[in-house]
Amino acid sequence: MDNADYLDVALRLANADLADVAALRAALHDEPWWSSRATSEDVSALRQVATDLRSALAAAVAGDGDGVLAGVNALLAAHPPRPRLSGHSGTWHVHVAEASAPPATEVAAAAAWGLAQGVVRYGLERWGRCAAEGCGNYFLDGSTNRAKRFCSVKCANRMHVAAFRSRTRP
Ligand SMILES: [Zn+2]
Ligand SMILES: [Zn+2]
Repeated sequence: MDNADYLDVALRLANADLADVAALRAALHDEPWWSSRATSEDVSALRQVATDLRSALAAAVAGDGDGVLAGVNALLAAHPPRPRLSGHSGTWHVHVAEASAPPATEVAAAAAWGLAQGVVRYGLERWGRCAAEGCGNYFLDGSTNRAKRFCSVKCANRMHVAAFRSRTRP
């Protein structure tokens, strides 16, 4: 994985519904190395990490630099990345935990590292929280005019349909 992937892990974990192992697997779908080994203990461990990620992201959305520093550094201290070279799938790549570590250990370290690198790369200008009713997902706004309001096309469509209905209601 590269830093963009780690940031994606941070956002997916922050926005995940961690009700059970299936929900965690869904959030980690692109990473079979983690999702295939995930257990309910990983889900319990990652709930707190997700809460801490959301606090740090809320600080970023608010432009609160001190809050971002405190939140991200607490995550890095609690879940330090431990880089290990690996060749298990026939391609050389780096993991951020020992191979014997449970998935939660590596997912938490990947998310902490990803969020830190995301702030390094994008500063505090591009973080947002979905404006769709009942969503509240965090996102990174990659648009040139920085006008993104929704986390996904799905949420944008849902809100546009709702707005249209309220305009055309007799
Ligand atoms: Zn691997
Ligand atoms: Zn949304």
